[in-house]
Amino acid sequence: MENSKNKVIRTPNQLVDAGLVSRENLEQLNRVAKEFSIAITPTMHSLIDKSDLDSDPVAAQFVPTAAELQWFDEERDDPIGDNVFSPTLGIVHRYPDRVLLKALHACPVYCRFCFRREMVGPGGEMLSDEDLQRALDYIERTEQIWEVVLTGGDPLIMSPRRISAIMSRLRTIKHVGVVRFHTRVPVVKPDAIDDELIEALRTDKAVYIVLHTNHANELSTDAKAACKRLIDAGYPMLSQTVLLEGVNADPQALTDLFRRLAEIRVKPYYLHHGDLAKGTQHFRTSISRGQEIMRSLRGDVSGICQPLYVLDIPGGKGKVPIGPNYVENFDSGAYVIEDYQGNKHEYRDSVNNKSI
Ligand SMILES: *Cc1c(COP(=O)(O)O)cnc(C)c1O
Ligand code: SF4
Repeated sequence: MENSKNKVIRTPNQLVDAGLVSRENLEQLNRVAKEFSIAITPTMHSLIDKSDLDSDPVAAQFVPTAAELQWFDEERDDPIGDNVFSPTLGIVHRYPDRVLLKALHACPVYCRFCFRREMVGPGGEMLSDEDLQRALDYIERTEQIWEVVLTGGDPLIMSPRRISAIMSRLRTIKHVGVVRFHTRVPVVKPDAIDDELIEALRTDKAVYIVLHTNHANELSTDAKAACKRLIDAGYPMLSQTVLLEGVNADPQALTDLFRRLAEIRVKPYYLHHGDLAKGTQHFRTSISRGQEIMRSLRGDVSGICQPLYVLDIPGGKGKVPIGPNYVENFDSGAYVIEDYQGNKHEYRDSVNNKSI
């Protein structure tokens, strides 16, 4: 049994052996496993409180359940429309000044709510060398690209050699000013953030690391140390969080998470409304509930702990802030502004530069 603690859990049988699900659920979970990949790293496994599996926020994110077999009409294979804006394999170019570079499709863990769950998994691992070169060629010849966002899959599980090769090529492209990595590795596999990886990221461009994390329990001592190594090496860190029923959809859980992040110099960047990915309805909250939670953070919690609450509009229409809204706008040029306690105030200024 000692052994199973050091291995990545990848099958329903291993989940049973690890005591994370009961044997009666095996048959259903085998059906889930046919649809969606499973992986729980030893670090994440060790953070799960087995005496309270039903309400453990880490278990809820990684341990599969039969609820994933319930699919709803509004759910999609490609909820954020990546495929609509892909000029060449591995690139998503939706906004003028930045592209996603998806160099691999594997992750160290598989989140049960993943918005790319139809695309990620241990099957379609790596972009071939030729496809990667074609993707980098596209970035080179498209001068409006100012930022390259490496995502996936999780780009920080690529070998330092491969990361370093990508960084060397990006370094030669003048119009690229920023390289950004979206990753879960510092939290789910903190030991992987070693000197070799940190050196592989080095370039003369600004490199930002955006950590995907959803609950304060994920921020183990090792995870904090991994973030410290990255930040001390000169890579600023931001975070993105998905609003998840059963994990963090309440003001206290999010306050804890955002404060713990700010304390380790990771700036909360986005709170994502849950995407319409297949079999994830049990994780979604309504937008109005999300707005209510954000409203309760404003004022009570430091501004540096406040992320922007965003929705990726289905079909590839892009991310937009979805509130809450504090401003009512009248034709007369007057405004009514609501403060963080819900009181309304008139705001008037005789300046009259209508924007349209
Ligand atoms: C989320 C996303 C980005 C990055 O958007 P930011 O708002 O700059 O964080 C870029 N391209 C695509 C296709 C995206 O989905
Ligand atoms: S790490 Fe990201 S891409 Fe991978 S399974 Fe989780 S949400 Fe999906």
